[in-house]
Amino acid sequence: MSVLYCPACDTPPDPLDWRCHACGAPLELRDQPPFAPGAIHAERWSMWRYAASLGVEQRVTLGAGMTALVPLHPGDESVWVKCEYLNPTGSYKDRGTETLLSYLASRGVTSVVEESSGNAGASMAQYAAHGGLRARIFVPENAPPGKTRAIAAAAELVVVPGPRHYVNDACLAAAVDGTIYASHGWNPYWIIGQQTLAWELWEQLGAAPAAIVTPAGQGGLLLGIARGFRALHAAGVIDRLPRLYAVQPWACDPFVRAIESGAAEPEPVIAQRSAADGTLVGSPVRGAQVLAAIREVNGWAFSVAEDDLLNARDRLARRGFYVEPTSAMTLAALPRVQQHLGGADGPIVLIATGNGLKAPS
Ligand SMILES: [Zn+2]
Repeated sequence: MSVLYCPACDTPPDPLDWRCHACGAPLELRDQPPFAPGAIHAERWSMWRYAASLGVEQRVTLGAGMTALVPLHPGDESVWVKCEYLNPTGSYKDRGTETLLSYLASRGVTSVVEESSGNAGASMAQYAAHGGLRARIFVPENAPPGKTRAIAAAAELVVVPGPRHYVNDACLAAAVDGTIYASHGWNPYWIIGQQTLAWELWEQLGAAPAAIVTPAGQGGLLLGIARGFRALHAAGVIDRLPRLYAVQPWACDPFVRAIESGAAEPEPVIAQRSAADGTLVGSPVRGAQVLAAIREVNGWAFSVAEDDLLNARDRLARRGFYVEPTSAMTLAALPRVQQHLGGADGPIVLIATGNGLKAPS
């Protein structure tokens, strides 16, 4: 089974630490099992078909994974949409929630807190309810009502007025007496669940695609995909790594600025208002790692204007993909991705991260 460690100072963490208690750095996992194609449980119709390669025992599941992969234009296999918004709570977050809550449950945790303005909170709320854990989800007062309703339906919703960091303060203050901060941004057990998206794409396409385009806030989705494809490459089942493209709104684009300037780490950004509410993260926890993962495969990061992402949302809806504005940024950036790729051989996959049903109109 996987082991937590601190890559910055190597102080051994406690199993339920959400960050290094000695130096404050984000924790990582070592002794992850390799990807084993022969160990896929083909009869399991969920992400747990890859249980042998995850390093976590399945405890809490609503059946995330095995989402549809559909051509953007019927009959044209050059661009695909990976429908992550079809996961149980309507977003890609569910894969990470399943591995993180399964790990915490295996450690005897029965009460969690999380901070979120949307999909991560809804995912944690609904999974905790299903797994029999108590959950309190802290949100800012401007959180989208469709998402707070999804949270309140399953768990205790705590609205925190004032600046955004008040939400974080209130959440951490509640993580006492055995209640654990189950952070999708900090906890590496969340990221390993996202590897299963890469493994599924490999099974669905029969190969690695030329490129993958994802919205990026924390960048945990992109990191999980990168790690998943690296595991496939190490196992010898693919012969190239897909190029990874991150897309952010103009309102909050720390990765784009760093990619353009060549910086090793993103400078913190104050997020402005945007319909792409899923990506308004001014200081990503693993910023340097995300940039390195993009550069390792000659990818890039693009920013999208507000008008363009809303227009792309409408175009996707008219093609039958009813996603939230955050997810539509990938389509808005597609022409620039194609230009950056040049004539690279193979399909492009757009990750459709969140369902339009939870988004304000
Ligand atoms: Zn440390």
